[in-house]
Amino acid sequence: MRYFLTLFLLLGIGSASADKKTMLYDFRYWTAPDHTRIVVDTQENTFFDIFTSKDYIILSVENAKVLSDTFSHLFFQDKRIERAQIKRDHETLKLIFYTKDLYSVKYFTLPPNQKYKYHRLVIDLYDSKSSMPKSKMAIEKTSHIDKTVILVDAGHGGEDSGAVGNNRTREKDVNLAIARRLVNTINKNKDLNAVLTRNGDYYIPLTKRITIAQNEQATMFISIHADAVESKSAKGASIYTLSEKGNNSKLAKQLEQSENSVDQFGGVETVIDSDQYLKSILTDFSRQDRDAQSQKLATHVLKELSKIGPVHKESPQKANFVVLKTPTIPSILVETAFISNPTQERRLSNSKEQQKIADAIYKGVIDYFDENQENL
Ligand SMILES: [Zn+2]
Repeated sequence: MRYFLTLFLLLGIGSASADKKTMLYDFRYWTAPDHTRIVVDTQENTFFDIFTSKDYIILSVENAKVLSDTFSHLFFQDKRIERAQIKRDHETLKLIFYTKDLYSVKYFTLPPNQKYKYHRLVIDLYDSKSSMPKSKMAIEKTSHIDKTVILVDAGHGGEDSGAVGNNRTREKDVNLAIARRLVNTINKNKDLNAVLTRNGDYYIPLTKRITIAQNEQATMFISIHADAVESKSAKGASIYTLSEKGNNSKLAKQLEQSENSVDQFGGVETVIDSDQYLKSILTDFSRQDRDAQSQKLATHVLKELSKIGPVHKESPQKANFVVLKTPTIPSILVETAFISNPTQERRLSNSKEQQKIADAIYKGVIDYFDENQENL
């Protein structure tokens, strides 16, 4: 039977000693539109195998145990997973995920990093491509014909929480809240169609965010983030546009570093050398135009943001962000405020303030279009 595959894998190098049990520290699930991600925090040297069928997926781990603190995190259900169960079969611990359909299962392991101290086993259940009815696809494609498409990207998501404030506010959550408000605001304008890169708590690799913009034939890309630095007093909004050279200021360097390395937190099997990948999808002929347009857009949006709150820098900044490398379309990254500043953290989690920020970005977008109209 084609689907009854059993795969034996070894996580890490070396072998676990027989008398010591392998610890499964924690479980997390993330539901995305096209897949569900299961993440298991494990020890190094964990032997496991994965068995896939139409009705269930079994993850077997030799000689393992689960922490009582996190035991309940295993039980989960969503549109793909009906329920999860744990069974002991002699020395083997079996985690059984009852599924609603046959999914193509992809799995990989990730080593610890700055944000995750354990090894991670990632199991992705992907919908089979054919499951989407053709008619629905056709409707989706034609529904926003003749409209200007604006891609609104909520930074981070899923395994990658982004920056975290003193009161535990997570950047990924406020980014999504503001992004959703921005999309709703933009979509009240009948000439525009705003689309979210993610509309839930799951991770999307940086380069995929760019391909979404291309597939949607977007003509503008706005990525929403919140800043964080060690000092609690830093405040204000900033806007970044792409500079292939990067930026020499300390803050921008730190930001580039943290924003460009998120794929390893979010969980990307092989973090692609983004520049290599991007070189193959980018054409350079209109880069100059893109940069000038991005600069114009950034200036308008920053001006509007300065009317509703402090700004960190008076003019748009340049940095080498992977997510801004959308070919030919104006692209900006908005750092809405500093989540590391307790006053600004409160502001970012307040729904009225989120709407004010969304409105200001929208006004900036409209001013940008107006200016371009005048120049025609
Ligand atoms: Zn961010």
